[in-house]
Amino acid sequence: MGKVVVIGSYVADLMSRAPHLPKPGETVLGGPFQMGPGGKGGNQAAAAARSGSNVTFVTKVGNDLFGKNAIEHFEKEQFNTQFVKVADDEATGAALIAVDNHGENHIVIAPGACGTMTSEDVLEADGAIKDGDIVVLQLEISLSAVKTAMERAVIHNVPVLLNPAPYQEFPRELLRHVTYATPNEMEASELTGSDVTDEESAQKAANTLHELGVKIVIITLGRKGVFLSEGVSSGKIVPAFQVDAVDTTGAGDAFNGGFAHAISSGQSLEDAVQFGQAAAALSVMKAGTALSMPQADEIKTFLS
Ligand code: ATP
Repeated sequence: MGKVVVIGSYVADLMSRAPHLPKPGETVLGGPFQMGPGGKGGNQAAAAARSGSNVTFVTKVGNDLFGKNAIEHFEKEQFNTQFVKVADDEATGAALIAVDNHGENHIVIAPGACGTMTSEDVLEADGAIKDGDIVVLQLEISLSAVKTAMERAVIHNVPVLLNPAPYQEFPRELLRHVTYATPNEMEASELTGSDVTDEESAQKAANTLHELGVKIVIITLGRKGVFLSEGVSSGKIVPAFQVDAVDTTGAGDAFNGGFAHAISSGQSLEDAVQFGQAAAALSVMKAGTALSMPQADEIKTFLS
């Protein structure tokens, strides 16, 4: 069983559908209110745990109703919650999501408590990082916390997976700490300054990332699959599984959690990519994010 340490965000997803998205100043009557666990950190932790890994989740929630719900959810997903901090002076993060009839959305994320995670919070989890088989990071928490997590992982010789989402500017020299970088096409374009639109441009972006020190580049391409590159000019497209998608939100999180599980439990790179893509394909066949992540037996059956 892989030991996956996810250091990242948790927010409560608060969602309603409406006939159209409100214009500035407009109020629109929506459909039923739905609430569920979210945040890239929490979603990727759920995907890895359901895939079969032993997951330690390092995050921060508020001392409020959403924070209590979060901890119940973490326990249900069997995360090690030793490094989940409860802040007295910050609300639990929330994502305010409106979706229209065409699936277009408006999202405002109020990071709340997880937005206040510091390097010190990460240092408190140093024992878990040292004991981990992989450290999984995204860019929804402060860069100082991300930087500390990378530095500690490197010191302990633990591989780092960076899902650079949502993209925010960060010092490129941090990329030398990254074993696996998993941007989508847009994030790969922003990271490298060159548009990723096809296989050739994906290789160009991957080359830039390799030159900056990333060992393995995996650019996710939605329903087209991933561009997998293990070194300068050595990449190829690995196609996605063909399924009927009903909700692709969180596909990237399912891929990252599934991949982190598989690679940290000793699967080959190619098998781990297929495992991540299977987890993602199964997740897009259901609505929701954290709660749409597939269980290990579903993935096993899908792959057999
Ligand atoms: P999100 O931000 O919605 O979580 P993302 O942009 O980070 O997604 P994508 O590149 O859209 O990530 O998808 C990640 C992986 O999920 C893809 O590489 C692919 O394996 C799988 N996937 C996404 N959409 C589909 C689909 N329609 N059918 C099958 N697999 C899909």
